[in-house]
Amino acid sequence: MKKIEKRTVTCLALTLFLLLGLALFLVRFLLDGGDWASFAANRHLYNSQGQLSVGRVLDRDGDVLSWVDESGQRCYYSNATVRKATLHAVGDPNGAIGTGALVAFADQLSGYNLLTGADNPFGQGNDLYLTLDARLNYIAYQALNGRKGTVGVYNYKTGEILCMVSAPSFDPAAPPEIQDGDPRYEGVYLNRFLSSTFTPGSVFKTVTLTAALEQLPDLFQRTFTCTGSTVVGGETITCPFAHGEMDINDAFASSCNGVFAQLADELGAETIAQYAKQAGLLDRYSVSGISTAAGSVALEGATSAQLGWAGVGQYHDLVNPCALMVWMGGVANGGKAAVPYLVLKTEGGFPLPASHITRRTGRLIQADTAQVLADMMSQNVVLTYGADRFPNMDLCAKSGTAEVGGGKQPSSWFTGFLRDQDFPYAFAVVVEEGGSGAGAAGNVAAQVLDALVNGY
Ligand SMILES: [Zn+2]
Repeated sequence: MKKIEKRTVTCLALTLFLLLGLALFLVRFLLDGGDWASFAANRHLYNSQGQLSVGRVLDRDGDVLSWVDESGQRCYYSNATVRKATLHAVGDPNGAIGTGALVAFADQLSGYNLLTGADNPFGQGNDLYLTLDARLNYIAYQALNGRKGTVGVYNYKTGEILCMVSAPSFDPAAPPEIQDGDPRYEGVYLNRFLSSTFTPGSVFKTVTLTAALEQLPDLFQRTFTCTGSTVVGGETITCPFAHGEMDINDAFASSCNGVFAQLADELGAETIAQYAKQAGLLDRYSVSGISTAAGSVALEGATSAQLGWAGVGQYHDLVNPCALMVWMGGVANGGKAAVPYLVLKTEGGFPLPASHITRRTGRLIQADTAQVLADMMSQNVVLTYGADRFPNMDLCAKSGTAEVGGGKQPSSWFTGFLRDQDFPYAFAVVVEEGGSGAGAAGNVAAQVLDALVNGY
């Protein structure tokens, strides 16, 4: 009897083991099947040069950005500037840009599905529609005017990314020979919007201000005096000029480093880090499955002065432009924003294409704080940036001029959102070595927003 019992137990254990293995395979098959099928060595889907030889990439209004001709060659849109402006979204023929659709969405382009594998009934792959408007990308790329940087705009209610440009770029229809270390092509294979982090400079004051609004009950009763430099923790924090006497509204509108460094020091490292985290600036987002770069604030062991600089977006602060854009969307949308996405739909597949389900972020900011912050960002436009530069827009914004060191000119930032049910857009713009944030990046934002709101 004992023997039979023992054998039964062994048999059960083996059965369990087999079932576990099968379950593991099924889970991996469901999660990774698309990647297996669209693996670059699959000759069924890739031509002799290793280019994805099935599927078309289109923008939101059906402009065909990339397709495959009869000989299996990958082709791109007729206008060279559009090709450069959409390079990082579409991808290059050699697959060097890993976040481009030709690589990141290869399974959706190939028409892979669980029932038929990579065999598409039409043999042509799928039509993959991006959420982008190629025309907006064109306008943003032109506005960057040869400078490095990135522009992103999205609908904070639906999550659709309408504009996503990264520069430098190149023409995917005639990829250049790029030597290592060529400064013209620094980081060219990187989508700066999704995959880079930058020193934020004063756009980070939106975070320090949020913490101050919630943690310092007498904030609006305080007055501050700036003589052009302020001593925090025994070190001097400088402003471009003396801002004079002001309340917190003026301090934010004139972006006084002295005031925000003092506030950061008073709030403490833990609080600043906690609010940066809550704002979503330290986390990664999954944008149609592409993971964004995580930002950071390294405040462990920081002195008062270092904390002060961190509070104005310097020191070791790093921010990803996409995460900053979503943070702005959160402020605009009462505390929670839609998570951005890039794939509007795929057509031609079997079974029927699935429609996108909008996901929301966690709470990035309390609703009443968001209201106050939005009002103050609206004041910035009126008092500092010039409302006439942004016609027909209820714009809330913050500029940043981030010192990056290394003998480089500052990075220019402009970020914010429209308070408008018809145009619920948040944006982030970086112009590397652009100098003044409100100037260089502000002008790029103005051109893109103008096209969105007032038509092109
Ligand atoms: Zn100042």
